[in-house]
Amino acid sequence: MKQLELKYSFDVLEPYIDALTMETHYSKHHKTYTDNLVNAIENNPELQNRSIEDLLTNLDKLPKQVQATIRNNGGGYYNHNLFFDILTPNPIKNPNGDLLNQINKDFGSFENLKNELINAGLTQFGSGWAWLVKDENKNLKVIKTANQDTPLELGLYPILGIDVWEHAYYLKYKNLRKDYLINIFEVIDWNKVAEYYNK
Ligand code: MN
Repeated sequence: MKQLELKYSFDVLEPYIDALTMETHYSKHHKTYTDNLVNAIENNPELQNRSIEDLLTNLDKLPKQVQATIRNNGGGYYNHNLFFDILTPNPIKNPNGDLLNQINKDFGSFENLKNELINAGLTQFGSGWAWLVKDENKNLKVIKTANQDTPLELGLYPILGIDVWEHAYYLKYKNLRKDYLINIFEVIDWNKVAEYYNK
């Protein structure tokens, strides 16, 4: 398991996400999740040979002594790989093609979808995530999860995740989570989201 390599530097998402938040989030938080996951499975070749998606989808069938670590740190590893991958300083700010068609079908409009995501992030009490997910028929849904829980164990595949842990926004936005949620759409690349949708 390897931490996603950032294709951009920490300061390029300014002013929407500040450089210190990005650096701390990636180099400290994400690295710690990754290190803890690697440590948890290092003596278990059976687990090492499985994908992170497989592990998180089948959490309840894993050996009891690693379940909590894989849920929390494996979840943190997986969630942040997706999160950092869909952010970019020069995003395509609107979905198109099949993804846009499905958004219109499931939400009525892109505006409605954005509002649902903002609302999910705002109403997640405490730490967690707001998600755009697809099901096995490629239908879309907005959900939220607590802590580092992933949509995978619900049988859903995340194509966009917004981190609403305080570490994701507090240095710049303090208690104003909604402002962070509105601004993050300035750096979400919908072409990248479409790649996950089409996978
Ligand atoms: Mn985070």
